[in-house]
Amino acid sequence: MATSPMKTIGAGELRAQNAGETVTLAGWVARRRDHGGVIFIDLRDASGIVQVVLNPDEAPASEEVLHGLRSEYCIQVTGTVRPRPEGTANQELPTGAVELAAHGLVVLSPSAPLPFQIDERVDIDEGLRLQYRYLDMRRTRMAGNLRARSAAIGAMRRVMDRGDFLEVETPTLIASTPEGARDMLVPSRLRPGHFYALPQSPQLFKQLLMIGGVERYYQLAKCYRDEDFRADRQIEFTQLDFEGSFWGQDEVLDVLEQIVVEVVQELRGEEIELPIARISYADAMEKYGTDKPDLRFGMEIVDLSDLFADTEFKAFAGVLGSQGTVRGINGGALGLARSGLDRLVERAQELGARGLVWMIVQEDGSLRSPVAKFLSEREIAAIKGAFDASPGDTLLIVADEAKVVTSVLGQLRLTVGQPEDSDELAFVFVLDFPVFDVNDDGSLSPAHHPFTAPADVDELASNPETAISQSYDLVLNGSELGSGSVRIHDPEIQAKVFEVMNIGAEDARSRFGWFLEALRYGTPPHAGFAIGVDRMVSILRGEPNIREIIPFPKTQTGADPLTGSPGRVEEDQLFQLGIDVRPEVRIGWAEAEEDAGA
Ligand code: ASP
Repeated sequence: MATSPMKTIGAGELRAQNAGETVTLAGWVARRRDHGGVIFIDLRDASGIVQVVLNPDEAPASEEVLHGLRSEYCIQVTGTVRPRPEGTANQELPTGAVELAAHGLVVLSPSAPLPFQIDERVDIDEGLRLQYRYLDMRRTRMAGNLRARSAAIGAMRRVMDRGDFLEVETPTLIASTPEGARDMLVPSRLRPGHFYALPQSPQLFKQLLMIGGVERYYQLAKCYRDEDFRADRQIEFTQLDFEGSFWGQDEVLDVLEQIVVEVVQELRGEEIELPIARISYADAMEKYGTDKPDLRFGMEIVDLSDLFADTEFKAFAGVLGSQGTVRGINGGALGLARSGLDRLVERAQELGARGLVWMIVQEDGSLRSPVAKFLSEREIAAIKGAFDASPGDTLLIVADEAKVVTSVLGQLRLTVGQPEDSDELAFVFVLDFPVFDVNDDGSLSPAHHPFTAPADVDELASNPETAISQSYDLVLNGSELGSGSVRIHDPEIQAKVFEVMNIGAEDARSRFGWFLEALRYGTPPHAGFAIGVDRMVSILRGEPNIREIIPFPKTQTGADPLTGSPGRVEEDQLFQLGIDVRPEVRIGWAEAEEDAGA
């Protein structure tokens, strides 16, 4: 750590070989213990913790200072480093062999009583942690996460530098870019009634950079998406965004592999073996029921439709007779009691299945199952063969239309499946996404943004439901880390894609006319990707949520308990922006204030 006259070395840097040196430390009082007049302090700074001993006979600090010291006071201590007395070394601390015998102590800044203890072992309400984030980050967990985030970004930059990528900042006050979410809007004072959008990603700007002859671009880009806080999302997050010209998919995946290797090495000291596994979207859906498969365990979905073609079991026969399918997973030795099995059936129903059939393979090879009596010997043998089942295994089977079956089994797989080694990292590229997702009502919505190149333009026009795009995701342990694609570089194809996507020619011209115009000037073929930095770091750190990685995140309702954003603004500001807040919204404000007793 860089030093100054106020602080000559980091507290966490002291080791046995520093014994005898006189040093000045500065940091915070993490713990203070009074042992019959001699005071022990754990002094913490950004580099770690060291024990400081204040013996009133040796330290000239006033009694008042010594006894007035409280947790989290910011202090400066000068003293001599010495080995700890025989038998008192602390193996858990890197500085545990030494202590600082203080001769002088200055309180740089006292601390108000704390809203919570700065202690890893104490469970603190997240709202309070966010309100006092600056105190929360004095705790080891957050301090470590901030360092890991910085180290990950450093590793990413090294890969970008090695590849001669140019770092370019793109604006954050822009016209809307479609990434599939709602835009965050910023009103313009100079053009009242007009709005900027905050970028959902730098997508179109990075494509303009390719048109502009920047052949390799990257940026650590802030992106904004006004989404409901489903799952683990934030309105504001950071992507490593990159793009290359004269590139196809292979070049993008190659850079991604280098990033994965470098970041994992940096954060976990582990070697990731290349190449990273690849699976097509179609295979991922078929085998794992999801486009972000967790490959830390197998448990693939098995199609049993042929096996049950002539079954006497009415439920399966009925589904198969109406174009449905029967599939299942071998959950392994789950050892569930009846109540546990019933819960799985309920779960399958919640997920949209009409039912779930379970079968447990007995020691004698027979099947225990509510439907066993409807199954022939031949079917039982074939089921066990299809699942490669051994005694003790629990087989879970769903019959319905294919979309329901794969989705339900995919989620049940995650409910019952356990990675053997919870530290394992299973990266996989999912390739060849469809151009469109088919919604439940049969309508189509773009699976990626509309600048993604289709694999075959004619196919897109004739069979939009099944057309494949040149797009790919990077998945880690069942979470999507990011996505990218080969882009359209021909303005005519771009116009055609807009058309198929139901963005009319007029609409496309008014929203993206400037971009269609740019595509006309010798656009190079190009491709790229964006990785969610916070998500990648959160998984590598074993954190359950990206809020643990983002220095100042928002809550589930998009609020910041620290600064109180989003907040109301002065009437005058609204007036200047030409904005009038609707009366019913104002009534809502008044009611909320009354509820809060204001
Ligand atoms: N802009 C895309 C996204 O944010 C990534 C990409 O296609 O490069 O998901």
